[in-house]
Amino acid sequence: MTHSLCPLRRLGVLVAVALAAFAGPASAAPAPRSKPIRIAVLTFSHETVTFLPYDTTIDDFTYEGSPARGDALLRAESRGYIGGFVTVAREHDGVELVGIESPLGSKSGSGSGWLTTETYEHFVGKMIADLKAQGKFDGVYLAVHGAMGVRGIARPEAELARRVREVVGPDAFIVGTFDPHGNEDDAFFKHANLAFCVKYYPHYDSRLQGERAARTLIRSIRGSYKPVQAISKVPLITPTVLQWTGKTPWMDLVQRALTWEAREPDVYVNFFFGFPWSDVPDVGMCFQVMTNGNAELAQEIADDMGKTAWLLKDELLNTAKIHPIAEGVSLAKKAVAAGQTPVVLADHSDRSGYATWVLGEVIQQDLSDTVIVTVADRKLTEALRAKGLRVGDPFDYPVGGLADESAGQPVRIVGTVQHVGGGLGRSRARGGQLWINVKFGKNNVLVISPTLTQITAPDQLRDLNLNADDFKVIAIKSRVHFRRGFDDNRYAKTILIVEPPQGFLGTVHLENLPYRHVDLKKYYPYGRPTFP
Ligand SMILES: [Zn+2]
Repeated sequence: MTHSLCPLRRLGVLVAVALAAFAGPASAAPAPRSKPIRIAVLTFSHETVTFLPYDTTIDDFTYEGSPARGDALLRAESRGYIGGFVTVAREHDGVELVGIESPLGSKSGSGSGWLTTETYEHFVGKMIADLKAQGKFDGVYLAVHGAMGVRGIARPEAELARRVREVVGPDAFIVGTFDPHGNEDDAFFKHANLAFCVKYYPHYDSRLQGERAARTLIRSIRGSYKPVQAISKVPLITPTVLQWTGKTPWMDLVQRALTWEAREPDVYVNFFFGFPWSDVPDVGMCFQVMTNGNAELAQEIADDMGKTAWLLKDELLNTAKIHPIAEGVSLAKKAVAAGQTPVVLADHSDRSGYATWVLGEVIQQDLSDTVIVTVADRKLTEALRAKGLRVGDPFDYPVGGLADESAGQPVRIVGTVQHVGGGLGRSRARGGQLWINVKFGKNNVLVISPTLTQITAPDQLRDLNLNADDFKVIAIKSRVHFRRGFDDNRYAKTILIVEPPQGFLGTVHLENLPYRHVDLKKYYPYGRPTFP
């Protein structure tokens, strides 16, 4: 009920502000709105699969162009969070942005384990030193992820905010942008004022959240937004493959958040799905709400979101059919025979990129017209680069596997090298890496990449000199992001999500994971927690 009164109350405030402005001196000192402000921009972002056996190290964030500072940092992510932030900040008069030395994305993406304490201290040390050296700031933007896992530091994003606060003092405003796979609670808000989280999975709106972060930060610095926050931490833990927001009931929660933002001025609702592959104390679902000075409204909305999610808990856990790999490949074969193509065969569970289970089964069941993108094998790609592999060369090597038990054994592929290139996306931009297409069997192609690769749209295959339309089955490593280009646009006629029956790391059976910092019994559906 409270919220229905709020617009009136706020109208009162607005009238008062307008009158004050009207009554002010007509000339002399510049209006407060145009007072120059300085904002520091920093980033340190990683989605850590802490169950992977090899650590994320300084080397993963160190490459040509990273760390970045100054304009290079501000230009780093034009279509992402930072791009949105910079664009909107620059639409405001008198705003100076300073890119503080920061590491860009990890070379191995999300395909590596714990960040060592040394790695965190190394980069945060550089960030804080540069922040101190750059003088006084009115605001700070932290582009983070939320699911970083660091040995010995329970909440790395909140810790970063704490150290930044120590430098900039209590009067500066700090805003963060987050991925909805962040594991968050109220810790970040102990040191920061604002947070904006992507709403969709696939993550369509990262740039938009960067834009909102800039606008709200600048309003806060200039006094027209007085951020207050409330949270609702829901004791529900879900595998990421179930969290597709293109379908009910995940879509319903996104829509409810959007509805609150639409009906109440200056309200922002963050919906963190959580990231169960990080063994950290703040796993699980969380809602954060920010309002313009209305603590009661913030809490009311946070409670509403939490309660709604709790009512939907069983539906939230029942959104995708997961097939054992052999069954999935067999269903793919049937779909091809029935003309229900293209088929997407998505191994959602491979966290290293090296898994060979689908590849082995494609050979076993003699599938044809299948492209497998990708199996990662950095050793092999580097060895073959050194050897000077060429198109047309015969290929006979064991591929992939062995990264950990979830990757399985290498699979011997006998075929012909069809293409060698620099890969796609970030890998292509960085250069120096070799990706290999091998033609084998009946019109099958295997793409070997140096690292875990998530294909999210058929067009990406063009970077690999392939045409998705030439294949009936497209076997990929992806949980939900592939729906961006294969499902939301109705491209695929058949979608089969698979995982190995052993229930390795990446499985929907979270009870198989060796958590040390999480007591699964405190989370639905593994225990019977009471909520709210
Ligand atoms: Zn994510």
